[in-house]
Amino acid sequence: MNNHEFDFLVIGGGSGGMAAARRAAKHGARVALFEAGRLGGTCVNVGCVPKKLMWQAAQLAEGLHDAVGYGFDLTVNGHDWAGLVARREAYLRRLNGIYQSNLDKDNITAVHGHARFVDQHCVEVDGERYSAPHILIASGGHPTWPEVPGASLGTDSDGFFGWTQRPQRVVVVGSGYIAVELSGVLQALGSNVTQLLRKDHLLKEFDAALGEQLKEQMRDAGVEIREKIQVRRIDEADAGLAITLDDGSSITADALIWAIGRSPNTAELGLEHTGLEASSSGFLHTDAFQNTEVPGIYAVGDVTGRQPLTPVAIAAGRRLADRLFAGMQDRKLDYTNVPTVVFSHPTIGTVGLSEAEAREQHCDSVRIYESSFVPLYYGVLEKKPRTYMKLVCVGDNEQVVGVHILGPAADEMLQGFAVAVKMGATKQDFDDTVAIHPTSAEELVTMT
Ligand code: FAD
Ligand code: NDP
Repeated sequence: MNNHEFDFLVIGGGSGGMAAARRAAKHGARVALFEAGRLGGTCVNVGCVPKKLMWQAAQLAEGLHDAVGYGFDLTVNGHDWAGLVARREAYLRRLNGIYQSNLDKDNITAVHGHARFVDQHCVEVDGERYSAPHILIASGGHPTWPEVPGASLGTDSDGFFGWTQRPQRVVVVGSGYIAVELSGVLQALGSNVTQLLRKDHLLKEFDAALGEQLKEQMRDAGVEIREKIQVRRIDEADAGLAITLDDGSSITADALIWAIGRSPNTAELGLEHTGLEASSSGFLHTDAFQNTEVPGIYAVGDVTGRQPLTPVAIAAGRRLADRLFAGMQDRKLDYTNVPTVVFSHPTIGTVGLSEAEAREQHCDSVRIYESSFVPLYYGVLEKKPRTYMKLVCVGDNEQVVGVHILGPAADEMLQGFAVAVKMGATKQDFDDTVAIHPTSAEELVTMT
């Protein structure tokens, strides 16, 4: 059996793996990267990128509706879902090609296939062996499915991206990022969406005010959100799926999406040959430097269970490569104050501590500033959804430790404010910054 020797082996060609491999190669390391599926991983193929394109379509649908209030006389003759999906997939194929040529340019050996450990310095792919002193696991995750009779009659976010037709009646199960994002897209593009929450909240990791207000606005937009309810079983029915709920009621729908979290891809890695053990839920524990418990084996991204976001995986991967191959011994990712956006309708942007977290950590020294207003955009429209903003400040100098925004353009507003929070800006710094008028963002520097 052939054994190919490298400096660095990377399992997974997604956000974290690609970033680490390319940075290591730029530092002169001989790198091999293994990808079982399509280059770019979850984000490019069944995550951020196709999701954002679908979200853009949903935004346009809302804009077309609003255009009437702005004086346009429009006749919209439906929406070509299949056409959009075809163009979206063609774009993703182009991205896959760009990823491949980036690897080629960096002289990275890209191997298509499933990698399994043979020992702690060697992996096997399709009968070939590859060895290196350093191996990175960046194998990501996959959608979690529940153990409910008939569960397989539903689908998950990967399945959503495979739809070439938009189902009319859709049940979305879950309360997190994916559930609210897909519900919002489907509702805006014309489906009748029922979202099932097993508890009574959306987005439990976020400041509670954001989930509450999102729920209200999603309901106003037509999404039927049912609380404290779970699916008991799913059966095929004449006209779609018969979904029986645990209160004994049932819903008929054309499709059901499970959006109840994601699980790490560790079961098929051959970890038993390395001495490395995953946690009971399959995640790989890493220290602040992305080291696993086994010397020479590292992990970044979703497989670690730490803030499963693309820029986090990329940042951790790059810093690891800097440390291993450029002598930057202290280089590591600071996992605090990571900004994040939910592409819901409306969008949510958040960075830093929620009010509850701040009160737990800083007790009485917390001061909250809030603003709720109807953005100017809606001035000439009949609907009047409100934008909500919250600043969480702590200490005598009122350091801003949390910025939370719900409303149109929250996604584009947040990045700059995240820099300010990361730099330790105070409420006075916010107040001393001249506002940009007329925008929604100006509210963040004019709160009293
Ligand atoms: P992945 O991107 O999942 O890559 C892992 C790769 O490893 C996969 O391609 C897999 O095929 C491969 N692999 C696994 N095992 C092996 C093996 N043994 N051998 C070879 N290859 C293997 N994040 C954001 O920041 N913004 C967003 O808007 C956003 N939207 C999302 C929307 C959806 C629907 C989903 C599902 C996720 C979204 N995310 C978003 C999260 C983001 O996609 C992930 O955090 C990110 O992709 C994680 O990168 P990763 O490198 O850890 O794993
Ligand atoms: P999340 O972790 O965001 O949410 C999943 C939620 O599902 C849980 O919080 C839980 O809510 C609920 N849940 C769990 N089990 C069940 C069950 N059996 N029945 C009903 N509800 C259940 O997971 P997602 O799958 O939405 O997304 C995974 C990750 O991907 C996210 O955490 C995020 O990091 C990333 N992502 C990022 C995006 C972005 O940046 N815009 C977009 C999409 C994904 P509760 O306990 O409250 O009931």
